[in-house]
Amino acid sequence: MKEAVPNYYHKFQCIADRCNHNCCIGWEIDIDEETMVRYSAMDGEMWERIRHAISGEVPHFILQAGDRCPFLNEAGLCDIICECGEEALCEICTLHPRFRNFYADFIETGLGLCCEEAARIILSETHKFSMVLPQDVSLLDEERLFFARRQKIFDILQDREKSIKARFSILASAFGFDFNFSLDALCSLYLSLERLDEAWTKEIDALKGFSFDGGIFEDEAFQIRFEQLSVYFVFRHLTEAMWDGGYESRVCFVLMSCYYIGALWARHRAKKGHLKLDELADIARRYSAEVEYSEENLEILMQPDFLG
Ligand code: SF4
Repeated sequence: MKEAVPNYYHKFQCIADRCNHNCCIGWEIDIDEETMVRYSAMDGEMWERIRHAISGEVPHFILQAGDRCPFLNEAGLCDIICECGEEALCEICTLHPRFRNFYADFIETGLGLCCEEAARIILSETHKFSMVLPQDVSLLDEERLFFARRQKIFDILQDREKSIKARFSILASAFGFDFNFSLDALCSLYLSLERLDEAWTKEIDALKGFSFDGGIFEDEAFQIRFEQLSVYFVFRHLTEAMWDGGYESRVCFVLMSCYYIGALWARHRAKKGHLKLDELADIARRYSAEVEYSEENLEILMQPDFLG
């Protein structure tokens, strides 16, 4: 299948044992059918170990204490890769932290924000986000319309002549709402969702009552960071609108996510006096893990009636 990737995509390399939030901890890892067939057919001690570490109707690795993948060793490396090579990984481990948008003749592959290294790459990119479609792709009429519509959204978000606050406001009004959310209402909404980590609950609680004036959206230091963040959310979540027509609810989700992450960044900055790239990336990473990786949460946040 032909593939298109964002301009920053090839900067990514998993930092493995240097990662503070290793994706081999805390996530259930399902094994796809093709990999199961492969694992079942192999002989040898390591393959035996792999088979013993899998269970369930939907086959998955049995997590160890602290929700660690059984193959994550003390050095923070993957025993499967060390012993059998990367080609022995199941689909989910090969793909992560990438995500895919599917079209009739090609796929787009992006880097997901829930990986701290991907978050750093996305937020530190200074060039405008761009995608080059593979040569000779044929587009369906719906896809042609979708790409034209998505490009208009990218153009608004990447208009560096304007502040990011102005760009967000223009985009919101193009879809019939204001870039003006109630922080308390958002905190209540996020508290009502499924949550993975107690630290996220504390983060939301701490944000309640924070006096947020939105000044961060006009701060020079944050302009490109918010541009990259918003374009990332559009790139990741808009494709489905091609089929269900839900452009408004997805654009609202994008702007609401940027607003909320902006409030989190502002609170941390107010507390510490400054914020480094790693800290910005960590807040965005946590938001992504809690929101983007829960189908249930995404479904709630993309309800058209949320627009009110
Ligand atoms: S979260 Fe990203 S950098 Fe960390 S181990 Fe996973 S893929 Fe590698």
